[in-house]
Amino acid sequence: MAEVHFLGTGNAFSPPGRMHALALIDSKILIDCPPTVIPQLIRGNCLPSEIKHLLITHWHADHTFGLPFLMLNRKWMPAEDSDGLGLEIHLEENGIEILSNLCKTGYPGSLEDSLKNDIIWKIDKRSRLTDTEWEMERFSVFHTPETEPHGYMLTHSSGFRLLHCGDSGPCEEINSRAGDSDVLIVEMGVPDYVDSPYHHNPSDVEKLSKKFPETKVLVTHNFSNNENFRHGFVSPTLSSNIHQLADGDRLIIKGKNDYIMKK
Ligand SMILES: [Zn+2]
Ligand SMILES: [Zn+2]
Repeated sequence: MAEVHFLGTGNAFSPPGRMHALALIDSKILIDCPPTVIPQLIRGNCLPSEIKHLLITHWHADHTFGLPFLMLNRKWMPAEDSDGLGLEIHLEENGIEILSNLCKTGYPGSLEDSLKNDIIWKIDKRSRLTDTEWEMERFSVFHTPETEPHGYMLTHSSGFRLLHCGDSGPCEEINSRAGDSDVLIVEMGVPDYVDSPYHHNPSDVEKLSKKFPETKVLVTHNFSNNENFRHGFVSPTLSSNIHQLADGDRLIIKGKNDYIMKK
């Protein structure tokens, strides 16, 4: 049994009712580290010190700027039964300097020891995630190139496969893996009227779901769904087999091709 908890499902603009997109797997693996990561973890009854793995998709601020807060929390509120394993951050090599500088900028003079002792930088594109039931593969996707965008294929010991497309437009790297995955998480970056090859828009999401009917499509990085308080893009209506995630949704995984969504 495994669980993916969607503690945030919003885009960079913080639409009403949504925090920045992230996914928390088995209370140990975090995909992305947005600025609101701490209130999101606390709301999900997860302590910052419990996170063992952080998988970074790309350098955009809504996916990374929470790292100084995460490290500060871990430093001053460490786990009581801390095994000293530290936080394994999985990323492209360039990111070591980028994220180190981010921590030093956020809390100058305070996180140097955490950078040395609490972070284990992992640049392997494939690895078994220690202390978990998961293996991961990181692959390139199609987004603003300066952000070094990547997605992740996560394979559970039960055989269940979860494809996280990262922040990306349609691309072959996603297509070549979508058919092999049970569930696919796609970030919907822009509405149809915004012309951007670097993002999936609602029509792209529909096409992806039609092309891979056996794969359940979950949509995150969503727009506003509050009709009373308009801010940013308005959520589209998508086909009923596509699930537009809301903050707090959970994917409960029982095995290969065996899962349910829970509010
Ligand atoms: Zn984003
Ligand atoms: Zn992005």
